[in-house]
Amino acid sequence: MPTILPVSHQRPLPLDRLIRQDAPSDEALEMDVVVVGAGPAGLSCAIALAQLVKQAAGEPLPDLSIAVLEKASALGEHSVSGAVVNPRVFRELFPEVPVDQLPFRQPVTGEAVYVLTERRAQKIPTPPTMHNAGFYTASLCEIVRWLGEQAEALGVHLFPGFPVEALLVDGNAVRGVRTTPTGLDRNGAPGPSYQEATDVTGRMTVLAEGTRGMLTQAWREWQQIGAPNPQIFALGVKEVWQVKRPLDRIVHTLGWPLPNDAFGGSFMYPLGPTQIALGLVVGLDYHDASLDVHQQLQRLKLHPLFRPHFEGGQLLEWGAKTIPEGGFYALPERRHGDGVLLVGDAAGFVDVPSLKGIHYAMQSGIFAARAAFDALKKGSTTASDLAAYDRLVNTSFISADLHRTRNMRLVFKDGFWVGGFKAGLMTLSGGRFPGGKIDMPEDAAAARRVTLAAPFTPDGALTFSKVDAVFKSGNATRDTIPSHLMVGPDVSGEVADFYSHVCPAGVYERAGNELRVNAPNCVDCKATDVLGPRWTPREGGSGPKYRLM
Ligand SMILES: Cc1cc2nc3c(=O)[nH]c(=O)nc-3n(C[C@H](O)[C@H](O)[C@H](O)COP(=O)(O)OP(=O)(O)OC[C@H]3O[C@@H](n4cnc5c(N)ncnc54)[C@H](O)[C@@H]3O)c2cc1C
Ligand code: SF4
Repeated sequence: MPTILPVSHQRPLPLDRLIRQDAPSDEALEMDVVVVGAGPAGLSCAIALAQLVKQAAGEPLPDLSIAVLEKASALGEHSVSGAVVNPRVFRELFPEVPVDQLPFRQPVTGEAVYVLTERRAQKIPTPPTMHNAGFYTASLCEIVRWLGEQAEALGVHLFPGFPVEALLVDGNAVRGVRTTPTGLDRNGAPGPSYQEATDVTGRMTVLAEGTRGMLTQAWREWQQIGAPNPQIFALGVKEVWQVKRPLDRIVHTLGWPLPNDAFGGSFMYPLGPTQIALGLVVGLDYHDASLDVHQQLQRLKLHPLFRPHFEGGQLLEWGAKTIPEGGFYALPERRHGDGVLLVGDAAGFVDVPSLKGIHYAMQSGIFAARAAFDALKKGSTTASDLAAYDRLVNTSFISADLHRTRNMRLVFKDGFWVGGFKAGLMTLSGGRFPGGKIDMPEDAAAARRVTLAAPFTPDGALTFSKVDAVFKSGNATRDTIPSHLMVGPDVSGEVADFYSHVCPAGVYERAGNELRVNAPNCVDCKATDVLGPRWTPREGGSGPKYRLM
């Protein structure tokens, strides 16, 4: 059977574009701290830092200027999560705010886990890693908007609509960032609304750009910062529905519609009495080139376990994003450098067995703020001044939790049943079985079998095409934007087909034996950055406009 090796069709990172030794422009905006990415990690970092400055009033540290740059045109518009949230870090960051005023939809009132076949659902005991009692369901868009309000109230400068396209460096030190220009035409030439890039300098920069961060990848490659295993990813495709009857618990499923050699599962969470979040998450090391996560999510809704919840309801919003799944062994050897720190998903702080990343992202942001505050007070932000950040993470629950489940995702490379059995033994042994590290190749190095895709026709009521899905993401990127996707070499018809299945937003199409790229459709999920054409930041405000994800 013919196979595709995704890595052989990928371009290397454009390091010369991403790491710039040139001096900042004369008009550069000068800040003390520059945070890239207004997700839970970046905003928690900015909030914690501003709180520390406030508490230290009178100490010999002048007011700090803190900037958070975000590529979405408004906070939260590029945020996608499940989400069931562990509230522990909210309590730490906002001890005075009662829980009913935190940006959650409702407490978790019950939970159930099922293994699915095409027609049946077998309930199984909830594995200990998936217990969610005491947690809350939420929309990450709403959390991010709320965190943004708290940050602004503390004097943090928020810059939505400012994607960062490069790190400005001096020797080995990060000295700030350069944003993308806007108003370029399809050929990359300045159009009538052209505005040049902005340089923002800082005594230090915090990379909080989330999953598969482009700048993080570039900084690590430039500084040669490895990890015991390469990072691996899953793609999550999610929908929020208006429904007729409330869901009384959170639901997770394993098995159908995924083949046995793919790792993943679905989640269905109540968001109050009239809305439900439904998502499917699939590891990008699957073996079948025609597997299509968006399409499998559509099939999932036809299962007797799900159908009754959505029939007669209305699709409100659709979104997609990757999740770093490598866990403990994929964490970068260091997450600090001269003038720079890595936080949240950019560093890989996600615990896959429990599908949790939000509170790890927030906690890492708080630790980054503490290390940054001490370094700025000393007047020096070299790597050794910022190393305290890694020490804080390594002695915290972030590291302990990821260590406990260190091999749990990795055993699933042997398939669903063998992986499930081994994961059970790991749970019983507190992570000690099997000893040592399971090696994982990067996702793009896993060969794909070229197979014929099973036909699927959406009905437009319960199931939707990718075109409808992108419409429901709110994406209104202008058609005349230059392509931000870098296609690699030797893309045959089969490879084009593969990309068309990987991308949940219908960006890639096979036209004869060629690849057609509809770049404006892109919702920045980064799946093809992992397996195919590289993603680069495009002009501010492009991409989806999520409100409920
Ligand atoms: C489908 C799905 C379900 C999940 N379910 C759960 C769950 O139930 N519970 C849980 O705790 N976690 C869950 N997670 C994980 C959780 O959402 C993440 O771990 C968390 O959002 C990470 O926060 P972050 O701030 O590091 O990154 P993000 O939330 O991704 O935020 C990064 C921000 O940086 C911005 N950005 C990126 N690049 C640039 C750039 N170049 N310039 C400017 N801005 C940039 C992005 O637009 C984004 O706003 C889920 C994730 C997914 C995808
Ligand atoms: S082209 Fe955009 S939407 Fe499609 S997979 Fe790549 S990053 Fe995701």
